[in-house]
Amino acid sequence: MELGKYDISNPYEAKVISSERLTPMEYEDEVRHLVLNVAHPGFIHTEGQNIGVLVPGPHKFGNENHFRLYSIASGRQGEDGKGAEISICVRRCFYIDEVSGELERGIASNYLCDKKAGDTIKITGPYNSAFTVPADDTCNLLMIGAGTGIAPFRAFVKHIYEERGGWKGKARLYFGARTGMEMLYMNKMKNDLGKYYDKETFKAFEAVSPRPHTKDQPNIGKKLGENAQEIWEMLSDPKTHVYLAGIEKSFEHLDRTLATIAGSDALWNERKAQLREDGRWSELLY
Ligand SMILES: Cc1cc2nc3c(=O)[nH]c(=O)nc-3n(C[C@H](O)[C@H](O)[C@H](O)COP(=O)(O)OP(=O)(O)OC[C@H]3O[C@@H](n4cnc5c(N)ncnc54)[C@H](O)[C@@H]3O)c2cc1C
Repeated sequence: MELGKYDISNPYEAKVISSERLTPMEYEDEVRHLVLNVAHPGFIHTEGQNIGVLVPGPHKFGNENHFRLYSIASGRQGEDGKGAEISICVRRCFYIDEVSGELERGIASNYLCDKKAGDTIKITGPYNSAFTVPADDTCNLLMIGAGTGIAPFRAFVKHIYEERGGWKGKARLYFGARTGMEMLYMNKMKNDLGKYYDKETFKAFEAVSPRPHTKDQPNIGKKLGENAQEIWEMLSDPKTHVYLAGIEKSFEHLDRTLATIAGSDALWNERKAQLREDGRWSELLY
């Protein structure tokens, strides 16, 4: 949905409880984990939803607020187990302005990454996304993400193993980052996904970039290919739900990889069409 179509008329005040860097200082990319307290009974959220962040103006084009979306990274019970504290995972964005050729700071991401504990911000939502956890806990979840696309999967994993408990289907997380140290929530900075590795039904697979010093995308396809048999079994099982999350360009070769795993373009196209038709293929790409 276009950003202009979101209802931002009833914002909530959220207090920043903490802001923690998820990537080591010596790494160029800065991604932060922010915990926000939304002390309002009307703010009820579930895993897979997004919030909006309103950055007050004045802004270049005269808009009162700059509005951007962020995935909730905590389960429905929140970071505090009571639902009032949610987390988001934000990458500090920079881009080259096409007109001036200058390096510009992304407005919302820099605003959020600069916030300190005790500051307040205005948020909207929560908004539904295509990401929902099936009611049947024998379903399989194939979660494929890159960069900040890990956020909804952190929420999913917390939900199925802590809030619901005892998930019986397979949960497979394929996650890409430039280097091992940039594996969000799976590195020495913060490893809270690591604590699920002993769950019988959970497995995480990490894919790094073949050339980490360049802007090359992590090779998620290679990781999927290494587990081709299980991937195809999962994609052939009517109980499997597939989720893709993160920056769109991380997934540009995914169809090719899955067609190779399937054995032909035709077989993959047929399978993907079925997954889509059944509502078992969901994307949260930006
Ligand atoms: C449904 C949805 C969920 C999202 N969830 C998250 C999330 O959990 N965490 C998160 O950090 N972002 C997330 N985003 C992206 C986020 O909404 C913003 O687009 C991003 O933070 C840049 O906004 P900004 O105001 O800082 O930059 P702007 O001032 O709007 O500048 C945008 C520039 O940054 C580039 N850009 C936008 N997003 C990214 C990115 N993530 N990485 C690299 N370049 C980018 C754009 O191509 C453009 O050049 C999500 C987007 C959508 C649509």
